[in-house]
Amino acid sequence: MAPAAPAGRRVAGARPHAAASARPYPGPVSTSPLSLEPDTDALRGAVELLTGRPLVALTGAGLSTDSGIPDYRGPGSPRRTPMTYTEFVSGPEAQRRYWARSHVGWARMAHAEPNAGHRAVAALEQAGVVHGVITQNVDGLHRAAGSRAVIDLHGRIGDVVCLGCRRISPRDALQERLAALNPGFVESVGPAVEAAPDGDAVLTEVAGFRLAACTGCGGVLKPDVVFFGENVPRDRVDRAYALVDALAADDGALLVAGSSLTVMSGLRFVRRARQLDVPVVIVNRGATRGDDLADVLVDRGCSETLTALAGVL
Ligand SMILES: [Zn+2]
Repeated sequence: MAPAAPAGRRVAGARPHAAASARPYPGPVSTSPLSLEPDTDALRGAVELLTGRPLVALTGAGLSTDSGIPDYRGPGSPRRTPMTYTEFVSGPEAQRRYWARSHVGWARMAHAEPNAGHRAVAALEQAGVVHGVITQNVDGLHRAAGSRAVIDLHGRIGDVVCLGCRRISPRDALQERLAALNPGFVESVGPAVEAAPDGDAVLTEVAGFRLAACTGCGGVLKPDVVFFGENVPRDRVDRAYALVDALAADDGALLVAGSSLTVMSGLRFVRRARQLDVPVVIVNRGATRGDDLADVLVDRGCSETLTALAGVL
């Protein structure tokens, strides 16, 4: 362990491959504001640990904040209570509330574009360094940036599933149907709506919003994303575990980016890596639930950090 880590720099617990954490802190070398970046040392440690290893990236909402999609779990985030699965399937009233909000929020989600962090991950995949991406994000921005080996743990907000016949259809098509059924609705609530990670938006006036049913069977349509209170489909979990397990065989490392690992759906993969003695680097602004399991913690933004990593790995 580094002695007397200065405030603002977090150092992971000592592990055999935590070379960076084992080195003594060199101390401030300059009073220039540029050198006061608290985690430059950690970034150096991340590079040392990750260089030459195949990687799997586990990403969360913090990666997409630079694309204008707010992270509702990040530091200083507004409080928000998402709709649970039980509530959604309780009946048309809840579904009207969900789809009315989503109808307004969709425009913003649909126009979001990948940022430098997504592009860095895609570049690392093209370079053969990143072997797979496990994302908790439903925004589809990894694929938009060019990543191919992506496991959308929580589904994709761009897809809609029928709860009757399970048919998957594009969200864009539903948006057109909802617009036709509810002319002027988006305009009536004004532009000052707040988009959420799941494409939801906060508004209260949903009375009179008309729902669209499945064109095939008339069933209830649900966004094809995992709601709170709903389990991630088993095959997805298994494929993600397989990616992590392969790291153990290939002397690889797990790179967590932009996730506070608040929910078990993501944290379990960090635990698995730790069990298999696969090194873990976490890049996230603020503390995460996986900090105790990490070899190196980089308390910086994803876009700048991943860009820096992609430049040297
Ligand atoms: Zn159907």
